[in-house]
Amino acid sequence: MDDPAPRLTAEQWLARVFADGRPRHFGTGWLSGVLGIVLALLALLSVLCWHFPQYLTLPELRERYPLALVRLAIDIGLLAAMGLAGLSMLLRKRKALGVTALILAGAALTLGAGGAEIPRAGSSVIYLGLDWFVLGVLSTAAILVPLEGAFPLRRGQGAFRRGWLTDTQYFFASHALAQLMSVAVLAPAVALGEMLAVPSAQAAVQSLPWLVQFALCVLVADLAQYGVHRAFHAIPLLWRFHKVHHSVETMDWLAGSRLHLVDVIVTRGLVLLALLVAGFAETALYAYLALVSFHAVFIHANFAPRSRWLERWVAMPRFHHWHHGVEPEARDVNFAVHLPVIDRWFGTYHLPEGRWPGGYGIAGERAPEGWVKQLVWPFSMRQ
Ligand SMILES: [Zn+2]
Ligand SMILES: [Zn+2]
Repeated sequence: MDDPAPRLTAEQWLARVFADGRPRHFGTGWLSGVLGIVLALLALLSVLCWHFPQYLTLPELRERYPLALVRLAIDIGLLAAMGLAGLSMLLRKRKALGVTALILAGAALTLGAGGAEIPRAGSSVIYLGLDWFVLGVLSTAAILVPLEGAFPLRRGQGAFRRGWLTDTQYFFASHALAQLMSVAVLAPAVALGEMLAVPSAQAAVQSLPWLVQFALCVLVADLAQYGVHRAFHAIPLLWRFHKVHHSVETMDWLAGSRLHLVDVIVTRGLVLLALLVAGFAETALYAYLALVSFHAVFIHANFAPRSRWLERWVAMPRFHHWHHGVEPEARDVNFAVHLPVIDRWFGTYHLPEGRWPGGYGIAGERAPEGWVKQLVWPFSMRQ
């Protein structure tokens, strides 16, 4: 009897729809097609936010948008998406990319594009941060995709490497589920932080110059993160969850998003608790949050440039790539996110001169694909 045909993963299915076996370099209509799809999709999601702000946008952001500017940006994005779709269809024999971009742009146009009316609706109890996701893609991808394209470590790896769809789901969830984060991370950390605070010590911290507070903020946060991260590696029950992060086999800016919810909630909660107990000024905390949201992504990037002097003091991609390495020498090293000196203090620093790891992942094991499957993976009895 014949074996049943293997079921296609979503990634393979997408590749089959869009692949035409033709070159993808500049001038082949591939880049314009992909860029057209991304822009049209972002515009469509933005227009959906416009129609259902109470369910799809964060209350903290909802009131603050410069509306005229956002409307203009959506319309310009749509125009660009349609132009790129047309260009792709001119240059490329198979039209799947261009047609998809046009369908998405058409849906956004049908819904009113940038000119759509905003309904006067109250706030919903449960909401998604779709607006936060769109802003996240625009700010992160817009910086890191060109950087990786211009200075790649592993040339030819491409954006659509194995696991890209899983990691895109993580990127989406980490932004769209902002409400869950504020309930599960922020609220308990604030409550516990108030109980543990020593007012006189906090007053002393707040009397320091702002820059000193910011620098201390980075140090305290990375020390807390270091301790929690080491625990996630050392304690088998916690490793089940953190293993998800280490299951990426290709490193790029998107790979850093792959973190199990339990990992995110415990790590962020405890780091935030440490910062709140220390009592730093709110602006220093916000500056730190902006830094970590970029730096934690950057250290995963497929980005080759390095500075011998700088990489000893500031975590660069090579430092964190070693944390993900499959070879035995890469086991349990480089736990810090910002400051490699912390690993030097605790004897876990590993940065062999001039070398990068040969590969990434968990030796001998492969995680299932998809956010939902990886969410339940640590609970599987078979592990
Ligand atoms: Zn780790
Ligand atoms: Zn990592």
